[in-house]
Amino acid sequence: MGLLSLGTPLEWAEATKLAAHIRKHGIDQFLSVWRAAKDRSGDPVLWGDELEYMVVVFDPVQHTARLSLRQGEILRVLQSAHSPLFAALPAAQRPTFHPEYGRYMIESTPGEPFSASADDLLRVELDMLRRRCFAKQHLREHEVPMTVTSFPRLGATDAPFTDPALTAGGDAARSLFLPDDLINQHVRFPTLTANIRKRRGTKVRINVPIFHDTHTPRPFVDPTIPHARNTFPEDSEAALGAALPDHIYMDAMGFGMGCNCLQVTFQAANATEARRVYDQCTPLTPLFLAITAAAPIYRGYVADVDARWNVISASVDDRTNAERGTAPLRDEPKHNADTAPRRLRKSRYDSVDSYLYPGAPPEDNDMPLEMDLSVRDKLLAAGIDPLLAEHLAHLFVRDPLVIFSELVDVDNTTSMDHFENIQSTNWQTMRFKPPPLGGHIGWRVEFRPMEVQLTDFENAAFSIFVVLLSRVMLHFNTDFYMPLSLVDENMQRAQQRDAIHTQRFYFRRHWAPDAESTERIGEYTLAELFWGRDAAMPGLIPLVRRYLDELALAPEQRAELDRYIAFIGERANGTLMTTATWMRRFVHSHPQYKHDSVVSEKINYDMLCTLNKIERGELAVPDFLPPWYAERHRTMERTLGVPSL
Ligand code: GLU
Ligand code: MG
Repeated sequence: MGLLSLGTPLEWAEATKLAAHIRKHGIDQFLSVWRAAKDRSGDPVLWGDELEYMVVVFDPVQHTARLSLRQGEILRVLQSAHSPLFAALPAAQRPTFHPEYGRYMIESTPGEPFSASADDLLRVELDMLRRRCFAKQHLREHEVPMTVTSFPRLGATDAPFTDPALTAGGDAARSLFLPDDLINQHVRFPTLTANIRKRRGTKVRINVPIFHDTHTPRPFVDPTIPHARNTFPEDSEAALGAALPDHIYMDAMGFGMGCNCLQVTFQAANATEARRVYDQCTPLTPLFLAITAAAPIYRGYVADVDARWNVISASVDDRTNAERGTAPLRDEPKHNADTAPRRLRKSRYDSVDSYLYPGAPPEDNDMPLEMDLSVRDKLLAAGIDPLLAEHLAHLFVRDPLVIFSELVDVDNTTSMDHFENIQSTNWQTMRFKPPPLGGHIGWRVEFRPMEVQLTDFENAAFSIFVVLLSRVMLHFNTDFYMPLSLVDENMQRAQQRDAIHTQRFYFRRHWAPDAESTERIGEYTLAELFWGRDAAMPGLIPLVRRYLDELALAPEQRAELDRYIAFIGERANGTLMTTATWMRRFVHSHPQYKHDSVVSEKINYDMLCTLNKIERGELAVPDFLPPWYAERHRTMERTLGVPSL
């Protein structure tokens, strides 16, 4: 999550004075890259995944599962340790581990990118498993790196949820529920947290609808919110309506950025191709959020949504009241020298607001785009086309949140710091990434909506499938364009409980380019979108298979890839349930569950133990994972030379 510079962060009051400076130089930095790389072409198809984990400590005596806060120590070990797991591996392929927002989180990436060849695609799962095994080898006995999207009891008030136990509060988040010491200790993270709160003028407010079970009070007014505390100026807010009835209330960045995801970044041959892939992926983002949904529980309560998206979006929503539209603009202080106060429709973490490819139908770019006009004009004057200029001018309506005093004045021909400052704190469903200066890396596109899955088999399957789709888009010249306002509506539907069975998604009726049709858009289930309906809408899976047919792969390779694809198909049509559904069912059938939406410490412990057993292949759940998962997992562990259980 963003780049980690060393240095002294400026106080928010000081940082705001430099916002215009950062924006101006950020755009100059982009222009340096653009001049150097706009005609860059012929970069190979390369891609990589980012997998986020939370380190859970199990106490088999007390029956607790809590978050280990040993991120710093763990990363130091993982970044330097040697392991027999790497013995047979070229040095460049040694995976790397990175910090993430939570002090209980780690992230892994492959040592070097994969290609899209079948050989490489079939290396991905083993590579992911090797990373997990490596991390396990260097953790304490009862610590487990788990690829779980949201920690069910993060912020619960009836018992500790971290190890060691900490008291809520601290001046970064000023949370009633989360201790600041749960935030990554690199100064960037607490500063980011505090500055989002300071810019906004209040604490962030996250309200997720609660799942009303038979014994959940109606209305549900959360008894665990300490309404009467006066520790921080904002505390009275809880009483003043920040916490909505019938909702699970959360008040800190950690509730969102403390969630895990699975991201995939692909390199395109050139900037134009990257923009085309960006556009074609955009309508797919809600579908992949729905099919990977894995976050149905927050602060110890079962929610009525299955996915993390709106939670993270609200958790970093730094807009002021006036920007959000809850106060008149005339009351808004002018934050910066260069921008007048204005409404901003979305949080910095949200869905894509404009298509980027020059051939995008203008009518599908139907979102009003707030822009920093000076940024746009400068880019246009430099010869950049309107779509790209407007995209960047839109990202640049945001203020820089963390500025290091040592890095205020940098050389715009050798540094991208100011550009990245804004770019990497615009967390959208897709990200368009220019080449780093002077490197061997080309134009890239990042696919960001997916929730992380429990097993490396699933994470590999989704990564491989998305990569294949990125090839399919170019190979068959697909046309997935649809109005972005409907993609946004799909994002909301994607998070609904059991979206696979309860929701339809807007999508193109005709996927071939130039198809004549009076009605362009229909509404479809995920099963229809993945499996297809008719010749006009062949389905994502049949398209991927048709593409693989053309590659004429060796039969064993094809069979292996087909396993992943068949699994995706079974998730899409509900034959296999999503992680979110599995978690709901687990809670509901737990003997101690009182049908009051409460996930107690014991239920949480049992659920995480069970998930851990499933991941290890000790427990088969044939309506969640394919029946052969356990056997395959053991075979892979043997391949890695990891002693089996
Ligand atoms: N963990 C965040 C998420 O779940 C993403 C952070 C990042 O961009 O790496 O979307
Ligand atoms: Mg990350």
